[in-house]
Amino acid sequence: MKKDGSTSVSEPSTGISRELSNGASIPRGEEALVVSRVADHMTGIMRELNLDLEDPNFVGTPERVAKMYLEMFHGLVEGSEPKVTTFPNDEGYHHMVIEREIPFYSMCAHHFVPFYGHAHIAYIPETKIVGLSKLPRILEFYAKRPQLQERLTEQVAEFLWAKLRPLGVMVVIEARHLCVEMRGVKKPGAHTTTSALRGCFEEREVREEFLALLRRDHAW
Ligand SMILES: [Zn+2]
Repeated sequence: MKKDGSTSVSEPSTGISRELSNGASIPRGEEALVVSRVADHMTGIMRELNLDLEDPNFVGTPERVAKMYLEMFHGLVEGSEPKVTTFPNDEGYHHMVIEREIPFYSMCAHHFVPFYGHAHIAYIPETKIVGLSKLPRILEFYAKRPQLQERLTEQVAEFLWAKLRPLGVMVVIEARHLCVEMRGVKKPGAHTTTSALRGCFEEREVREEFLALLRRDHAW
């Protein structure tokens, strides 16, 4: 614990994130090497598609795609887990803390095309509270990898449950999947909603309170 009473929790790569991310990780410091290898594979894909690799628009494409993957999959890089500083709940606040409409972008694990939308995160503190800016960072960390919406929802809930030991936590994610919209069944505008909960959110009233607050329109 630090002087101001805050504690900084940073798990090594053997921590919760690794357990929940199928153990994948890119060693820190090897990003440039991975970019160049992915770029080589991308060149191979373009060749298989019989594209004219001399076309000025394609010249830098393999490397651009590789760098973009590293950016979009940043959560796979060793040590990218956010440091979550918690504070003692000195006020004894035991009601809901809600962060609504947190935007995110992720990539579908099945097709490597984007899915994106918003997350709503609620928790009820017991002895610890967390800085509100950390909730989007936790979401982003798990979104930046090939992902399933169901798993993303569970991972965010589990992370908060493990780190904060709150009375309860609930995560709702609403997203659009380009693999559903652009290909296959081609259903533009379809939304997928997932939720994960722990602790007192198992109780219907608690869950209902959160969902009612989500339905309320906020005009600022
Ligand atoms: Zn997909």
